Amino acid sequence: MRLIENWFSERYSDNLQLSFRVQDQLLSVKTDYQRIDLFNTYDFGKLLSIDGTVQLTEKDEYIYHEMITMVPYYCTAKSDSALIIGGGDGGAAKRLIDLGIKRIVNVEIDQNVVEISRKYFPELADSFNNKNVELIIGDGIKYVKDTDESFDLIIIDSTDPVGPAEGLFNKSFYENARARLSDDGIIVTQSGSPYYQPEALKMATKGMLDVFSNVRTYIAFIPTYPSGLWSFTMASKSEIMQRKEKVIPGRYFNEDVLKGSFYLPEFVKNIIKSI
Ligand code: SAM
Repeated sequence: MRLIENWFSERYSDNLQLSFRVQDQLLSVKTDYQRIDLFNTYDFGKLLSIDGTVQLTEKDEYIYHEMITMVPYYCTAKSDSALIIGGGDGGAAKRLIDLGIKRIVNVEIDQNVVEISRKYFPELADSFNNKNVELIIGDGIKYVKDTDESFDLIIIDSTDPVGPAEGLFNKSFYENARARLSDDGIIVTQSGSPYYQPEALKMATKGMLDVFSNVRTYIAFIPTYPSGLWSFTMASKSEIMQRKEKVIPGRYFNEDVLKGSFYLPEFVKNIIKSI
C-alpha cells in the first residue's frame, strides 16, 4: 500500500475515499491470502488494513467487537461455547472471555494476522493465550464442514465477501453452520455497510434465509468503517429475542443499544425487502 504524503486512504467508490493521516507505516506484507498493512495514525492509534480496507483501529475496535459478540450473547439463554471464524486479531475472543464463555474455538485462515496482532495489538491477541481459547489456523468453511462439535454461538468475524471470505456468505456454508449450532444457538456475521455495500447485506440475509426461519439485522455506528453505519446479520433455529435479563454494559453496548440496534432505517429495510 503506497502512502500519498502520509495519508492512508480506503476507497469506497470511484469518487470517494476516507483518509487517515499517519505518523508511520509499521508493516506491509503480502500473504498467501491477502495484503496486510499496519499504520500508526494520528487520530485512531494503530490501524490494521487488509486489502486496503480498515479492519480495526486501536481507538474504535471496541464498538465492532462488542456488537458482534454481546448482541448475540444476550439473545441466547445458554452460552457455554462459541466458534469464531476469522477474528485473527483476537478482539472477538477477548469479549467472549470477558462474557465468561468456557469454550471458544477461533478459526483464522491467515497465521500472519495472528502474529501481527500478537506483536502490535497484544491487549486483543493475548486472548489466544487464555486456557478457554483454542486457536486453529485454517479455513473456517472447511472447519464447519468437518467438525462434529456443536456451539451456542457462531461468530463470523471475517473480511468482506471477496477472496477467502466469499464462501462464508452463502447457503452451503450456512447449512453446515446450522448443523453445528445448538437448538437456541445464534449465528452472526458482519454484513457490511448498508450504504456502500448493500450487496454484502443482501448476500448474508439471503444465505441465512435459505437455511434459517429466524433472521434479524442490526446496526452499529463504527466511525472508521465505510459510511460509519455497519450492519450485522444473525440467525437462529428458534425465535430471536433477549434471553438474558441482566445486561452488563460495555463501552458502546448497553441495554438500550441491545434493543435499539434492531430498529432499522427505511433504506436498510428496503435493501432487505428487495431480496
Ligand atoms: N473487524 C473486521 C472487519 O469487519 O473489517 C474483521 C477483522 S478480522 C481481522 C477478519 C479475518 O477474517 C482476517 O484475518 C481474515 O484472514 C479472516 N478470514 C477471511 N476468510 C476466512 C476464512 N474462510 N476462514 C477463516 N478466516 C478467514
